[in-house]
Amino acid sequence: MTTLVPFDNSYAKLPDRMHSASLPETPKSPELLAYNEALGAELGISSATPDADLMAVFSGKIVPKGSEPISQAYAGHQFGNFVPSLGDGRAVLLGEVIDQAGHRRDIQLKGSGRTAFSRGGDGKAWLGPVLREYVVSEAMHHMGIPTTRALGAALTGTTIVRAEGGVPGAVLTRVASSHIRVGTFQYFATRRDTEALRALLDYSVARHYPSSSTPLEFLKSVIERQAKLVAKWLGVGFIHGVMNTDNTSISGETIDYGPCAFMDTYHPATVYSSIDRRGRYAYMSQPDIIVWNIAQLASSLLLLESDQETAIEVYTNAVNKMPDLIARERTAVFAAKLGIVDPDDEDTALVEQLLQFMMNAQADFTNTFNGLSTGTPPIFLDDFEDGHAWNSNWQTRLETQSDPIALMQASNPQYIPRNHKIEEMIQRALVGDLDMFSKMGKVLETPFTVQNGAEEFALQPKPEEEIEATFCGT
Ligand code: AMP
Ligand code: MG
Repeated sequence: MTTLVPFDNSYAKLPDRMHSASLPETPKSPELLAYNEALGAELGISSATPDADLMAVFSGKIVPKGSEPISQAYAGHQFGNFVPSLGDGRAVLLGEVIDQAGHRRDIQLKGSGRTAFSRGGDGKAWLGPVLREYVVSEAMHHMGIPTTRALGAALTGTTIVRAEGGVPGAVLTRVASSHIRVGTFQYFATRRDTEALRALLDYSVARHYPSSSTPLEFLKSVIERQAKLVAKWLGVGFIHGVMNTDNTSISGETIDYGPCAFMDTYHPATVYSSIDRRGRYAYMSQPDIIVWNIAQLASSLLLLESDQETAIEVYTNAVNKMPDLIARERTAVFAAKLGIVDPDDEDTALVEQLLQFMMNAQADFTNTFNGLSTGTPPIFLDDFEDGHAWNSNWQTRLETQSDPIALMQASNPQYIPRNHKIEEMIQRALVGDLDMFSKMGKVLETPFTVQNGAEEFALQPKPEEEIEATFCGT
């Protein structure tokens, strides 16, 4: 039996109705595509582990020693509609490991075949979304944004059918601080299963927020983490695409990369996901949506309170504070992008005015801020009556800051996983060429540093390269 790493499976020990034993499907002719050695080392995976073993584990061919694979139960609001039973329909949790820093981390296979929660689906994933999640989640991590990680990717050797036609089946090995979602709480709340709900809360508190001693404190901790997270997304132009409650993690990590994308041209209403027809999850709707999602968590937790009337009021107050919290976090993120620490109201106005110019000028989001960090005001300022006033206000403000250039350079990535480059990378991978996947991953390991030979990743797409929509591709 293959030993990958010592497993310690605490979630599998929770009551039976919270999960279901699920073995990964045996792949036809597995092939290892990628292994994240640095993350493997963090998890305590020996560097002497043979590639054959990595391939076998990451493709689902072999269940490593100590793993007790399960799929997790959860519910969720999908585009606002409640679905009482979702769950891991195409993922199995191999188990948890305690990493080198002492943190408990989940190792999960995504795309490894049907489970008890698959409903009509095949439980599979295909190469495109697997590589997209690999590159984007790792890039997010290296930009300092909390996220699940990518440990490995493998081909299964089977062709699966998607809207795109026949495509290669693949499995992503994902690492998360946990896979507990707002929807996990909803699953038990909607069943009025307070016993499981209590067990889930106690488990989540112990794992993520050990200093929270009540459901309300837990809620407030999640609010704080999610407010920070969404503000960070906005700061890099990230659009999650499917901010359903089942894709909202209680740990505050970015989770479930589907039709996500980074904005090129700045516009607050930008949407890429082909399934988001009404723009529910547009770039600048994300702050409202996270509050809505958190309100669903609050409703679920209410079930654990005995005095409903008082609890409703207190919980509502906590949720109602979230928009201001996000706004403050967002202002801090954007002020840092302008080289300013501890922004005041005038700085907020400076940020908003710049964004307004950027929108009107159809400026590239990432490159506008990059230009600022080299001290170059964007040329589009010339086009606006108050453009030069903005610049002199900004310059005056910078004089009060101790090291604005360093702050800007640490806050404005040079490189993001641009959508058209991701598409190009996937197209190449489909014909067996993984060079671009590797190169992109390498460049995005140090996204804040200018790198020779990485110019193609800094350019905004030419009109003909622009991607209008990304497909869920599940
Ligand atoms: P997602 O859009 O990836 O967040 O998934 C939403 C729900 O659909 C989850 O319960 C998934 O497990 C399930 N799902 C997505 N794709 C598949 C698939 N190919 N087979 C079975 N279930 C799936
Ligand atoms: Mg999901």
